[in-house]
Order: sequence, then C-alpha cells, then structure tokens
Amino acid sequence: MKVMKFGGTSVGKPERMHEVAKLITADPENKIVVLSALSGTTNALVEIGQSAARFERENAGELISKLSNHYHDFVQQLLNSEKAREHAISIIREHFEFLRIILRISFSEALNKDILAQGELLSTKLFSVYLEEQGIQHVLLPALEFMQIDEEDEPQLELIRSKLMELLAKYPANKIFITQGYICRNAKGEVDNLKRGGSDYTASLVAAAIHATVCEIWTDIDGMHNNDPRIVKKTIPVEVLSFDEAAELAYFGAKILHPTCIWPTQQQNVPVKLLNTMAPNAPGTVIQKTTSTSGVKAIAAKDGIIAINIKSSRMLLAYGFLRKIFEVFEKYKTPIDMVTTSEVAVSVTIDNGTQLHHILRELEPFGNTEVQLDQTIVSIVGNEIAETKDVLNKLFEGLSSIPVRMVSYGGSKHNVSVLIPSSYKILTLQKLNQKLFGLE
Ligand code: ADP
Ligand code: ASP
Ligand code: MG
Repeated sequence: MKVMKFGGTSVGKPERMHEVAKLITADPENKIVVLSALSGTTNALVEIGQSAARFERENAGELISKLSNHYHDFVQQLLNSEKAREHAISIIREHFEFLRIILRISFSEALNKDILAQGELLSTKLFSVYLEEQGIQHVLLPALEFMQIDEEDEPQLELIRSKLMELLAKYPANKIFITQGYICRNAKGEVDNLKRGGSDYTASLVAAAIHATVCEIWTDIDGMHNNDPRIVKKTIPVEVLSFDEAAELAYFGAKILHPTCIWPTQQQNVPVKLLNTMAPNAPGTVIQKTTSTSGVKAIAAKDGIIAINIKSSRMLLAYGFLRKIFEVFEKYKTPIDMVTTSEVAVSVTIDNGTQLHHILRELEPFGNTEVQLDQTIVSIVGNEIAETKDVLNKLFEGLSSIPVRMVSYGGSKHNVSVLIPSSYKILTLQKLNQKLFGLE
C-alpha cells in the first residue's frame, strides 16, 4: 500500500482535482490519499479566526461569505450531475453554517482550531463526491479518528498506527482511501492541527504507520530544487536526497516540505518522492536512506530568527555554564537552532520569540545579553558536505559582501549554516547560487 499526498495547489482548481482522480486511479496499488485544503482556504480561515478573536463579527461574516461563494463556484465546475452538485452544496452549507455559528459564541483557541480544520474536511468531502460521481470506489477515512498528538504536540505514531489499522481492517476489499491532511486530535480530545503545511506530516506519519511502499508528495513543482525558486531565478531539481539531507532542508526553510515531516518515514525507512501534479512524468526527487553522490545539494533559508548573545568574561569557561544557559531555553520550551561559542561569549538562535522576555530576564545573572531580531539562517545542505573539497572556499567567496553574524560548521556532516540579517537574504541566495552551483 502506498501514500499519495496532494497539496493545496494540486486540489485548488476543479480541473486539478480531476487530474488528481486520474493520478490515483492510474496504478493498481492500494493507497491512502491525503489531501490538503484548496489553496488559499487555510489562509482565509486564519483571517476569519483572527477577525473572530478581535470580535470583528461583520468582517468575519464577510470573509465567510466570500469563501463560501468560492466553494459554490468550485463545485459547479467540479461536478457534472445535478444530484452530485446538490450533495456537494449540502456539504458546503453544513460547514459554512458551522463557521457562522462560531461567530455567535465566545472565541477560544480551541474554537480557532475547529475553524482551521474546515478546509481539509471540505476538500476531502468534495473530492469524495466527485469520485462517487465518476464511479470510483473509495472510502473516506476521518483523520480525526486516528491522527493523534500528545500534550507536547508530538504525534503519537504507535497510537496512530493501531487506530488506523483498526479502521483499515473494516474495509478489506477497498483499494482507495481518502483522508484529511493537517488535522488531528490533541491530548484533550479536541480538534487540533500539525501546524501550517502539516499535510506533509500527515502523509509521512500515515506512511510510517502502515509501512507504505512509498510516500508520494504531489505538489506544484518537480521536486526539491537546489535553491528557493521563489527567490532565485535559475534553480534545478535535485534527483536524490538522503533522509538527513531532506530533513535539514525542510527544517531550515525549504517550503516544499513541512519542517519536521521527514522523521516518521526515516524511522520506518519508507522512501519519499516529491512529484509534480502539473508534470506527473517528471522524475521529481527521491528521498531515501542513502544517497550516492556527495557534495552540495541545495540551499535553504529560514526567516524570523532571533540571535541572542550572552557575554560573560568570568564564567564562560567554567563547567556547567552552558548547561545553565540551555536550561533557561528548556524551561520556556524554546528550541535553539544554532550555537557558537568563544572564550567570553556564547551566541544562540531561536525562531520562536514568544517567551523571549522571560528568557532574557533569566539570562541576566549570566552576563550581558544582546538581541538581534530579523535574522535569517541560510543552510547549505549536502552529503558529507563538511568533507567535500572546496565547498568552504566557495561558500565564503560567495559570502564576501555579506555581513555574516554566525557560522555553524561541523555539527552535522550534511550542513553548514550561516546567520545573516534578513535584509541580505536575497543577495545571499543569489550569490551562493552562482558560487556553489554555477547558476545565475
Ligand atoms: P503544497 O501546497 O503542495 O503543500 P507548498 O506551497 O507547501 O505546496 O510547497 C511547494 C512550494 O515550495 C513551491 O511552489 C516552491 O515555491 C516552494 N519552495 C521553496 N523552496 C523550495 C525548494 N528548495 N524546492 C522546491 N520548492 C521550493
Ligand atoms: N492546509 C494547511 C495549510 O495551508 C496544511 C497544508 O496545506 O499542508 O497550512
Ligand atoms: Mg505544503
């Protein structure tokens, strides 16, 4: 059995959804199909939630009507028969009625998660109506019945596996299962989600849970490119990546994959393929246990980074000092991305500033702290990159006009990272594209 995940743009237009139906019926292997919300929907739901939180009921109402109209237009083109259209319209009504009810009750974070879940619920139900109209036998599996996270928001793979297996066992003869990406239940049993872009994570968790033959991530580009195609003009797809390389690229900002979605497939050694719905025959990228070629594969950039420098002439070299500093970050559940030390100072970066003022207060006794906002981590990722000849030379030549704030090298064989002010990101990605790949 395999997993096929289709992102927002792959289901965002009626004709795209028709294409998805063709792709999932093209081969005879049994499959679980994971769908995102139609492109733009989750953003719209975020806005609706924000308006509701600010008690701007009129504005939220208008946003809901606009989104509802979009869905009505969508199903007119998606479906052919009046019967199927009526069915789809009743689904749309039910979900938008729910959103309107929310406007009338007091807002809470839990309610906001319910709002955000509507996108994937709608896309899967409407796709199911289309499959039914086409006479394509399938079963809709509710993700809320098997996708589970714990108190720390971590997916519970064993629980997911047992619940999913139980559900699948009910339909032994069925070949195509459809389910929602992104949404899940939390430890309190409430509706929750796997954070933005989380449908990739759903796909990877499902693939690991069922020991899938492959986890296919279908999107709007032909695989992982060597650099961010939204920023750099000329980029090329990477044919093969190791799990470690892909995980680093995803974590350090390659938007094509959710930041932490690789570990489940890596743990179960399920290969991942990144494929293009618009060009299904393009080879895309294969992510697997080992990769034959060494050297630089790709560059990614992660924005919104905060650098914190702690200077202490007295204490830094004393044992236990770093532990005490790291404990402050642990206490406030704030992961550290990069660390560099010198004899008198330590610099760390974080991407979550919500607890920054508490962290800074607790760091005070350790020395003088300095904070820099609006930083970007640029990561250069590749197999054995740290040992590949010339990479560092070319890297620093490319960075010669960039005010680099931190360098992280040697922590991983697959990654060299530098911290730069975000205002230099575009220039940095362009320069490194030239130096490391010979591309403009
Ligand atoms: P989906 O809706 O299918 O999940 P996303 O928008 O989340 O799609 O991810 C695909 C997009 O990721 C591409 O359109 C591309 O602009 C962006 N992207 C950023 N970095 C990369 C990269 N290194 N390789 C490929 N795509 C990238
Ligand atoms: N619909 C969700 C989002 O836009 C999840 C996803 O598309 O992966 O973030
Ligand atoms: Mg995505």
